[in-house]
Amino acid sequence: MPFVDLKTQYRALKPRIQENINRVLDHGQYIMGPEVGELEEKLAAYTGSKHCITVASGTEALLISLMALGVGPGDEVITTPFTFVATAEVIVLIGAVPVYVDVEPDTCNINTTQIEAKITARTKAIIPVSLYGQPADMDEINAIAARHGNIPVIEDAAQSFGATYKGRKSCNLSSIGCTSFFPSKPLGCYGDGGAIFTNEDNIAQACREIRSHGQSQRYVHTRIGVGGRMDTLQCAVVLAKLERFDWEVEQRIAIGNRYNALLDEARVKRVQQRADRTSVFAQYTLFAPRREVVQKKLSDAGIPTAVHYPVPLNEQPAYRHLCCPDCTPVAQQLARQVMSLPMGPDLTDEQQRKILNELCA
Ligand SMILES: *Cc1c(COP(=O)(O)O)cnc(C)c1O
Repeated sequence: MPFVDLKTQYRALKPRIQENINRVLDHGQYIMGPEVGELEEKLAAYTGSKHCITVASGTEALLISLMALGVGPGDEVITTPFTFVATAEVIVLIGAVPVYVDVEPDTCNINTTQIEAKITARTKAIIPVSLYGQPADMDEINAIAARHGNIPVIEDAAQSFGATYKGRKSCNLSSIGCTSFFPSKPLGCYGDGGAIFTNEDNIAQACREIRSHGQSQRYVHTRIGVGGRMDTLQCAVVLAKLERFDWEVEQRIAIGNRYNALLDEARVKRVQQRADRTSVFAQYTLFAPRREVVQKKLSDAGIPTAVHYPVPLNEQPAYRHLCCPDCTPVAQQLARQVMSLPMGPDLTDEQQRKILNELCA
C-alpha cells in the first residue's frame, strides 16, 4: 500500500495526460507556452480569484509574494512554526525575521488568539498555514490584520487547494494565497510547480514581473526578480488532472470523514476539523503518544506512515538562533505525537479497514 497513490490516478487519466504532454512537445513552447495562461485562467476561475500567477514551486510562490509586498531586511513576518520548512525559509531568505505564534492543539493551525500580541511596528506580513488541507481561521486573521493598518495576509495554501472556508475557496481567502503542485499535494503535477492567487492588480503585476527576472517588458528589468516560472509541460499535466479534481476532492472528504468516524469509535485522538470549513486532507493526521511503536506496528503490516512535522521550525538547527526556540509549547508537544496515515482519492474501503485493524490491534 503506497502512502500517496499516484499510480492509480495516472492510470485513470493516462490518455488525457499523454495527449496534453504530446501537444506541448509538438508546439515546442516549453516556457510560457499557451498551457500556462490556460491553466492560470482555469485556476483563477476555480478559486474565484481575479488573478492566478503560476510559478516554479510552492516555495517560490511564497518567496515571490513576499518580494512583491516589498518585505525585506529588518521586517518581521508572523507565522506558525508547525509547518513545512519553506514557510519560514522564504522569510529568512529575504532578510526578514520569522515571528512564531503557537498553534491550536486540535487543528494544529495558527492560534489566532495569540497573533495580536506578536504584532509590532515592523510586522509586514502574516503567513498562516492551512495545515493538512484545512484552512486556518482566515476571517479572524484578516480582521486582526485590518485592525493593525491592513497588514497583508498570505495564506500558505500549499496543502489546501480545493478546501473551503465559510463556502469560499482556499487560496482566495486573504490578500494573497500560495499553493504548491508538488506531486503528492492534493493537486499535483509531475515535478515542481505552484501558484499565487490575488484579487489585487498591483500585487498580481508585481508577481508576474518578479517570477520572470523582474521584467516589465523583454529586457527591461524594473525590479529584482527570480527565475520562477512554472514550465509549460507541468501546466499541461495540471490541466489534465483538473478534469478529475472535483471528484477527487469529494473522495478526499468522504475518506477523511470515514477515518474520523473509525478513529472516534476506536477512541484514537485525531486532528479536528471545524464545522465552517472543509479539509482536502492533504494528510490524514492523528495523535499517537507512543508514535514509534505505532509506526513500527503499521510498517510491519506493510502500511506506510509519515510525520508532518517532527520538529517545529523554531527548533530547527538553522532557525533556532533567529527567534524564540521555546516560545511555542503546543507545537513542541504536537510535534512529538503527530502521525499521518495513507491518504488519497483512490484509497479503498478495504485499505482503510486494514489500516484501522492494524492500528487498533
Ligand atoms: C509543500 C509545502 C510548501 C512548499 O511547496 P513546494 O512546491 O514543495 O516548494 C510550502 N508550505 C507548505 C505548508 C507545504 O506543505
